[in-house]
Amino acid sequence: MIYLDNSATTRLDDAVLEEMLPWFQHGYGNASSIYSLGRQARVAVEDARNEIAALLNGHPAEVIFTSGGTESNNTVLKSCCSESDLVDRVVCGASEHHAILEPVAWLNSQGKQTFVHPVDAEGRVSIEGLREENRVRTLVSIMHANNETGVVNDLHSIREAIPDALLHTDAVQSFGKIPLDVQALGIDFLSVSAHKIHGPKGVGALFIRKGIDFKAHQQGGAQERNRRSGTEAVALIVGFAVAARRAVSEMNERAARMTDLLTLLRERISTNVPQISVNTPLINVLPNVLNISFPDAESFDGDAVLQGMDLRGVAVSNGSACVSGSLQPSHVLMAMGRSVAESRAAVRFSVSKDTTRDEIETASAILSDIVRDLRSNQ
Ligand code: PLP
Repeated sequence: MIYLDNSATTRLDDAVLEEMLPWFQHGYGNASSIYSLGRQARVAVEDARNEIAALLNGHPAEVIFTSGGTESNNTVLKSCCSESDLVDRVVCGASEHHAILEPVAWLNSQGKQTFVHPVDAEGRVSIEGLREENRVRTLVSIMHANNETGVVNDLHSIREAIPDALLHTDAVQSFGKIPLDVQALGIDFLSVSAHKIHGPKGVGALFIRKGIDFKAHQQGGAQERNRRSGTEAVALIVGFAVAARRAVSEMNERAARMTDLLTLLRERISTNVPQISVNTPLINVLPNVLNISFPDAESFDGDAVLQGMDLRGVAVSNGSACVSGSLQPSHVLMAMGRSVAESRAAVRFSVSKDTTRDEIETASAILSDIVRDLRSNQ
């Protein structure tokens, strides 16, 4: 099987697993216990925190560990509105991940003022439009990079446009792949996850700028300086730090390699698959995602492209949920103004540092065959 879906980047690196294993096998102390096994675990967790903080250019006291991007996003939105009572209004972009859109919709159902900001045809939030959101007691949540198209938002300009609002960014897709610096960008809250950078699933972090009076959304045993209760998942946290260190230190090399692969993929697709629209622009994008769709998807079974690729041994995805056996149109592509058919029949390729040129050649040839067959059967 050729994995050109999310699993390309979510494969746990052997080197990461190797450093995690001792914490499952021998170092199973509870990091909050005072006996030596517990103290060793505490040291490992704090070392990992120092490392993640340094990689973000933050302070260790500004980082809490969570179960991943979904929890980090929910925590920020819900705590800011409820436990911390920092904001009266929440604004997000229309192309955000469901882990932002769903809690925002829920907050709205609870009577909070929320606003979903439109994106342009390339999927970027308009900075001009955001300026009117520059108010105190407002949380603006704009993702750094989009998971379906790879489009990167200009956080620097967004921060400049809304100096009085609190700024959260979902950096799950960008962390470890493109430079990220919470100080330089003036970020107040930031969500990251380990499994997009060959780390373990089920662990992530939330950056909370020092000085913000942040109260826990998840309460209990007061771990993480009372900002996220729950026994720390030591082995996962260690694995996250190792994966992050490797991703950041090899960032340029990995990015150059992945960009090369995507350039080849673009070339092959544009030569061999007629009538496609490429939804991923050429600049200010992640190095590992290419999203395409078919303007004529209405006239052939667009959903069948993904299924056909799977049957021929190539895993790709379209970022859309599959409900009752049929693919729902991608809300990201719909927000970018694509038709329902195009938004349903999109194909998202994700490459990783481990993808080969041969895999790209094979996958693009298979895509070309499948689309030709489907079109000829219409
Ligand atoms: N945000 C973005 C942009 C994502 O791509 C994902 C996962 O794919 C998440 C949030 C959720 O992260 P997790 O799977 O760690 O909960």
